[in-house]
Amino acid sequence: MTEPDSGTLFPGQPPVRREAEVPEKTVGVSPAMRQYLELKREAADALLFFRMGDFYEMFFEDARKAAAVLDLAITSRQKDRDGVAIPMAGVPHQAAEGYIGRLVRAGFRVAVCEQVEPAGRNRGPVRRRITRVATPSTYLDPSYLEGAEGAYLMAACEHGPAGQRSLGAAWVDLSTGDFSAAEFRGADRVRECAEVMAGFRPREALTPEAAAPLPLFGGGEQGPLVTERPGFWFDLEHARDTLLRHFRTASLEPFGVADFPAATCAAGAAIQYLTETQRTRLTHIVTLRRVSRAGRMVIDPVTQRNLEIFRSLSPAAGEPLPEATLVKTLDRTRTGMGARLLRRRLARPLLDPEAIRSRHRAVAEWGAGKSWAEEAGEALHGCPDLERLGSRAALRIAGPREYLQIAEAVGMAERMHAALEPAGSPVLTDLRSRLPGLAAVRDRIVRTLAEDAPAVVREPGHLIREGVSEELDELRRLRFSSREAIRDLEGRERVRTGIPSLRVRYNQVFGYSIEIGKGYGDRVPGHYVRRQTLVNAERYVTEELKDFEQRLAGAEERIGALEDRLFRELTEEVASASAGILRVAAALAEADVTAGLALTAAHRGYVQPEVHDGFEVSVAAGRHPVVEALAADTFVPNDLRLDRESFLMILTGPNMGGKSTFLRQAALHSIMAQAGSFVPADSARLPIVDRVFARVGASDDLARGRSTFLTEMEETAHILHHATRRSLVLLDEVGRGTATYDGLSLAWAIVEHIARRPGLGMKTLFATHYHELTALADAEDGVVNFHVAAREHGEEIVFLRRVAPGGARRSYGIQVARLAGIPDPVVQRAREVLDSLGEGPGEVSGEKEEEGADPPAASGSGGRPRRTGGRRVPGTPAAPLPQPPRADPLRGRLRAVDLDALTPKGALDLLYDLRRQAEAAADS
Ligand code: ADP
Repeated sequence: MTEPDSGTLFPGQPPVRREAEVPEKTVGVSPAMRQYLELKREAADALLFFRMGDFYEMFFEDARKAAAVLDLAITSRQKDRDGVAIPMAGVPHQAAEGYIGRLVRAGFRVAVCEQVEPAGRNRGPVRRRITRVATPSTYLDPSYLEGAEGAYLMAACEHGPAGQRSLGAAWVDLSTGDFSAAEFRGADRVRECAEVMAGFRPREALTPEAAAPLPLFGGGEQGPLVTERPGFWFDLEHARDTLLRHFRTASLEPFGVADFPAATCAAGAAIQYLTETQRTRLTHIVTLRRVSRAGRMVIDPVTQRNLEIFRSLSPAAGEPLPEATLVKTLDRTRTGMGARLLRRRLARPLLDPEAIRSRHRAVAEWGAGKSWAEEAGEALHGCPDLERLGSRAALRIAGPREYLQIAEAVGMAERMHAALEPAGSPVLTDLRSRLPGLAAVRDRIVRTLAEDAPAVVREPGHLIREGVSEELDELRRLRFSSREAIRDLEGRERVRTGIPSLRVRYNQVFGYSIEIGKGYGDRVPGHYVRRQTLVNAERYVTEELKDFEQRLAGAEERIGALEDRLFRELTEEVASASAGILRVAAALAEADVTAGLALTAAHRGYVQPEVHDGFEVSVAAGRHPVVEALAADTFVPNDLRLDRESFLMILTGPNMGGKSTFLRQAALHSIMAQAGSFVPADSARLPIVDRVFARVGASDDLARGRSTFLTEMEETAHILHHATRRSLVLLDEVGRGTATYDGLSLAWAIVEHIARRPGLGMKTLFATHYHELTALADAEDGVVNFHVAAREHGEEIVFLRRVAPGGARRSYGIQVARLAGIPDPVVQRAREVLDSLGEGPGEVSGEKEEEGADPPAASGSGGRPRRTGGRRVPGTPAAPLPQPPRADPLRGRLRAVDLDALTPKGALDLLYDLRRQAEAAADS
């Protein structure tokens, strides 16, 4: 198997190197620039947003790169030592989040540097500090994160001496606090890691600097951004220390990673990286789970892609069809946390039948139409994303309005708790018990913050509720009276001076002043002091106005400071409750998923599957959830039965007949059922499936530089090596990527291998256009033939989409080509060639035609066809493949003879020779 060190399983995109792109010759310029350069060195591989007043400025290469992405103008205010202008680009700080989001989406990291003291307090430049680093997995702005998608960072490294290496991986979602780690040993470790990784779909990958690149990441635009950090971060001692310090525990025993050094290394590095980027304690990451492949259905990345669980493979004619995925079809959750949980469940379905049944019972109970379920569902409507809010509160980056949303969500959890009282299924009673417990937090928030608290604090005075602090209320009164006093002053002065247009104005730079139009210069009292001249007016101040202004400014400053303090206290209190908030969020998410699945089941007519520990599959009138959703009422349901006597189904029939759809629907049923969902069928008895393999279609993988056929064979090899008796295998057109004989022979041998090899015999659906393979049903135990029915109407073909017992006799390729718009003359000629090849209608099987199929056996044998006795020799490819018409060599020689130059003896010799050749050809 692939050795991770040398493998090319997922050739990685080159990791971004950490180097600050700052020309050295700029050292020695202005003090602010020196400070910039120091911070830029610290920011390393991130663009530095350098706060200067109301702007974040970028310089040098950063300015150029950001300007290109953000469409900014490059300017220059400073020069370097050689007098060369330093390029600069800036964004207003109020709008910074939008720009940061765009840069992160474009693959950059952004280090945000703030001024950490008021300007002008000390000599020299104001003190500045990097307060956070935004990267694909650490940028948590709600406008950037997608509600339904996780935002995982994955750390990965190898540990141990050569020959006994193990691969450690950790996945952490900073936006929710979810943290898990895993360790993989043995030659197959990279592939196994990739299988678990497929469930997390990380956005960013963290690996040790200067280590051999792990062939895990990359794969085009969808791959995570690779970030390198120093190797010692991943050293066992260092990583263990990081984790112990983070969790404040004495050992890693509680997390189940104590005996998994590689997992510990990766987990420690992940925490260190998040701490580096957040620069605060990560209080919401309260536990670490060790995950493994055991206990969950394995859906490898290729299968996940082929089954279009999360992403659709081939949007029709370039049109994106985002709905054409399993997750979109199923998802009726109403909150981001529910949507994300549903995705996690679909990525890693369960194996324990009892746990699965419990989930089904909860869905059934929720969907039974009781009024409490409706009330509970209402509680989810518009419920804020408590999981992400709780995480933002823990990281102390939540704004005032977000705290109000936390309170709102807590209120909804309480409402849900009350509504679920009558529920009796264990899943629902358990999640209900986890909903209360946050009343104090909610009260604290509601009693502290003003009802209309702003999203971001822009001016003091609107943040804290009245009655929270006497001092604050007093200051507010003072501010109010000062404003009143200023307004009174305006009235009084207008009367005193007799100037009707006299106004008190406020201006950011000059503060308050009395504005008098140009025409009234002679009436301005002597004690007015001129402050500013405008085109049509003059502005003045008086001692009295200055006095009110000072009082007002003093009150505002103190209001700001006091509100800031009170808000900070609230922030700290809520942060310390974040673990509890996340527990309630998790319970809400479960309720949301259960409610959503019940809604989908009711809306689409799904049934509760019966899962069992045995082998057989029995589905009546099964449907493909996604194709059905798109095709509305035209979908044709089909039965599926697989058992120990017939576990390998060879499915033949015309292209476009519905073979792939039927194959995929079988796999999707198992995934849905084991994830806890109902399934689209009239009834379904489904065995626990440990892995699903889907080798569907000969998709080119040119982006990775591999031929279709090689990919096809690699994936098939993987299946043959890893499938167990409990697996479900879909093979669609295997062998198509090479010459007909090769392909047929391979397909043939693969079916034999699965059928014969002890310990294999897994449930397999094999769709093929090689109808020669149908002979295998006669030769091998466990192999049965089915076909997708089609009917010919003259020149036309009608797809019935019905899966019926027996093999297809023909592939109807020419009719399908016609349907596809191949020009008539070409279609006609193809027909002639086909006839000359001896494959015309009715020539392969002399038996009765039923919608183009070999007849089925007597009923009751699961579609097993009657054995046809000695018609074909079992064990060899049955019908010899037709040969293209070859030129006749005798004719060729005759044509080549130059008769005019031939002597009588020569003619006689030629005649004898031709005769000999003809006899030899007849004998062979
Ligand atoms: P094949 O694998 O035989 O080439 P597909 O499974 O790709 O065929 O199906 C071809 C088209 O037929 C699909 O695009 C799908 O929309 C439609 N189809 C497949 N199965 C059904 C069905 N059971 N009912 C209705 N339409 C179907």
